[in-house]
Amino acid sequence: MSAAEPRFDTPSAGLDVAAIRRDFPVLEQTINGRPLVYLDNAASSQRPRQVIEAISSYYERDHANVHRGVHTLSQRATDAFEGARDVVRRFVNARATQEIVFVRGTTEAINLVAQSFVRPKVGPGDELLISGLEHHANIVPWKLVSEQTGATLKVIPIDERGEVDFQAFERMIGPRTRILALAHVSNALGTVVPVERFIAVARRHGVPVLLDGAQGVAHDAVDVQALDCDFYCFSGHKMLGPTGIGVLYGRRELLEDMPPWQGGGDMILAVTFEQITYNQLPWKFEAGTPPIAGAIGLAAAIHYLEAIGMKRIAAYEAELLEYATRRLLTVPGLRIVGTAERKAAVISFVLEGVHPHDIGTILDTEGVAIRTGHHCAMPVMDFFRVPATARASMSFYNTFEEIDALVAALERARSILT
Ligand code: PMP
Repeated sequence: MSAAEPRFDTPSAGLDVAAIRRDFPVLEQTINGRPLVYLDNAASSQRPRQVIEAISSYYERDHANVHRGVHTLSQRATDAFEGARDVVRRFVNARATQEIVFVRGTTEAINLVAQSFVRPKVGPGDELLISGLEHHANIVPWKLVSEQTGATLKVIPIDERGEVDFQAFERMIGPRTRILALAHVSNALGTVVPVERFIAVARRHGVPVLLDGAQGVAHDAVDVQALDCDFYCFSGHKMLGPTGIGVLYGRRELLEDMPPWQGGGDMILAVTFEQITYNQLPWKFEAGTPPIAGAIGLAAAIHYLEAIGMKRIAAYEAELLEYATRRLLTVPGLRIVGTAERKAAVISFVLEGVHPHDIGTILDTEGVAIRTGHHCAMPVMDFFRVPATARASMSFYNTFEEIDALVAALERARSILT
């Protein structure tokens, strides 16, 4: 890298990445004798010490079941769990904690909305609208509803750059559209969908909007009120938090009207064999013992992200993306799949004459972790006529030097495999 190239602690983003990296114990290791270069953040991010410590300190001192106990530990656990809900509420700027439902992850959040909000309202002739760049988590739940009810699943096409076709969308939305379910950011291509434009049109048609925010929420500030969406879904493990915890944000009036999703303890106020009175929001949707440690870890992750600042994270990741795109295009035979105007720091690519899985395996021998495959977005692979891609996905703890290591490893993979 020449002196003119941006460094990892560039003044524009102002991040002290070297200091940030010291918070992530997992990054301090070697893999196959090389420093780990972790570029699989779209699949799952790593956790800083602060998140790991918040979870272990909860288990060491405060663990008990929530909501049902009068003893001190149960009260502490309840306070921490409900406190985490308020941290999430503030993070996405929801109006009330009643609008924040803890679930297992994005997948469960979308299934909840599909089954509880949409399924009871639709039948033959009704339409469910998604786009061609969705993750399977935002396809299959709608396909299930369509099979269960006779409603039609309609797919807004994407173009060769990996953008959702807005004109086609305007033609496709109509009086029978019952939901618009869109990715905020594509995991397979990195496309940042200009969801505000889509939401404005959906509003005019009175169509409720669900955003799959799995790839959105960790990489830029999200304000659900400004977005004006009805549902926003995300996963803790992609934003420095634990696995097994995720969030469904839902507009309160809609959640109030929805039937419960699963039955069991905690989601009820009173039970007889004749009649059940359901609990208030958000607990109506949280049957059984919730992921208490998960919520506490997620709150710690949010504190960590906020201390750095989502806008600074977005600015730094944009620099990484720009640099990585430029450097990768110097590798002979490399083609980037997904060249939308606005992208998150995700680069899918193919290398002429080499299967992506072979690239991934050789890169691993050099300590470089990327993902290869269909990225749970098989229709996207079909559209671009590739069986799979290699995907490097970055986070704010990645460095420009790591991009150089990726490029060097790709050069070696190419010389071995072609
Ligand atoms: N949507 C998108 C865009 C994703 O990237 C993912 C995870 N790869 C999901 C949904 C599903 O998230 P989870 O597996 O955490 O439920």
